[in-house]
Amino acid sequence: MSQIPEAATAVVFDKCNGPIRVDKSHKVVQPNELAPGEVLVRVEYTGVCHTDLHAHKGDWPVPPKQPLVGGHEGAGRVVAIGNGTTTTLKEGDAVGIKWLADSCLNCENCREGQEATCPLAETSGYSKDGSFQQYAVSFARHLTPIPEGLPLEIAAPILCAGVTVYKAIKQSNTKPGDFVVISGAGGGLGHLAVQYATAIGLRVVGIDTGADKKKLLASYGADIFVDFKEHSGDGALIEEVKRVCGGVGPHAAIITSAGGAAYNDALEYLRPHGTLVAVGLPPDTYIKANVFFTVFKALRIVGSYVGNRQDAVEALDFAARGLVKPMIVVEPLANLASVYERMEKGQVAGRIVLKCFD
Ligand SMILES: [Zn+2]
Ligand SMILES: [Zn+2]
Repeated sequence: MSQIPEAATAVVFDKCNGPIRVDKSHKVVQPNELAPGEVLVRVEYTGVCHTDLHAHKGDWPVPPKQPLVGGHEGAGRVVAIGNGTTTTLKEGDAVGIKWLADSCLNCENCREGQEATCPLAETSGYSKDGSFQQYAVSFARHLTPIPEGLPLEIAAPILCAGVTVYKAIKQSNTKPGDFVVISGAGGGLGHLAVQYATAIGLRVVGIDTGADKKKLLASYGADIFVDFKEHSGDGALIEEVKRVCGGVGPHAAIITSAGGAAYNDALEYLRPHGTLVAVGLPPDTYIKANVFFTVFKALRIVGSYVGNRQDAVEALDFAARGLVKPMIVVEPLANLASVYERMEKGQVAGRIVLKCFD
């Protein structure tokens, strides 16, 4: 086991919208300073999610802790476990730091496996310091074991992006052979949703645009591609989606794209008893559902937040078996500020994963 240094590198901002500092002498919590239940993780890779950018900008109704070390797609190894911690984890185990850092495990939400809505939930890189650092403190009971053999840079984006779309598919009320539309299929969340959906035997209709996206999605086994630019007339996209899904529309639609229009289209092309799953978080967007048709077609509209501990284990297992592989670009941890700039300009393709050690 490597020595635990007194100080290491962390990327920090002191207040929302303030400068992002690469702090090379950030204090590392020492093993004897860990509280019961806490674990020190040597973070090797961490993905960058849009939520991290929202945290920095203070976009959400409840602001993050400040100063903040963001990040919630951390993959690394356990280097110390707080005295008095009950856990099956051991030093050296590969573990993932996900968005949900902790929850009480005792409330109704937690007992039902809906840990994300626990009133005592803590979040990595938001209410607690996260994974944009070399040594992070996290909670044993919410760390996700990473299967040995799965490269940590591949595991990292599964811990938020992967789990999120995997959970959305679980909420879609579908069974193998059903049609599912993935809107925004070529994007950061969408390309993972397509792979999970294909892996569990759904017939995937990818909505996106361009020959490159079409080719990428076909390589994942997506049966059908609908180019929204080729069907841009009044109601044309809706008709095309219905047509490719047996003339009656898909059983479910998972909306990962940023635009609000995709939600309203889905309510029109879903077949009776179809399910709309909202995953993307476009700002100031409302789903406008016609009550008559929602009742008459017995539609379901479901919001899907992040997965629970079991969802995270399952999502990683697909990746470990080679069924799901995120598109990643690896960069040094110190690049975070530049990554945010590129995200804001929409210049990021795939998922950026930061390497925490040289
Ligand atoms: Zn995230
Ligand atoms: Zn709880």
